[in-house]
Amino acid sequence: MAFKIIASQCTACGACEFECPSAAIKFKGETYIIDAKLCTECEGAFDTQQCASVCPVPDTCVKAAA
Ligand code: SF4
Ligand code: SF4
Repeated sequence: MAFKIIASQCTACGACEFECPSAAIKFKGETYIIDAKLCTECEGAFDTQQCASVCPVPDTCVKAAA
């Protein structure tokens, strides 16, 4: 399981990149993306998903469909 970034809503502020404990978030092209292979959903590190917590745009870092 992993989180994803809704690219059309991402303002590329970069806040999420530094909060991710798994280094799963990178800038690519014109937006930030989450590498689903690296994302741990912050399990074991934080109680809440840090990307979703810090993102200033509501519902932009969301759980990816399985
Ligand atoms: S849910 Fe956690 S591990 Fe996954 S991308 Fe967001 S901050 Fe990184
Ligand atoms: S915190 Fe939100 S708006 Fe900022 S780069 Fe990450 S996904 Fe995009």
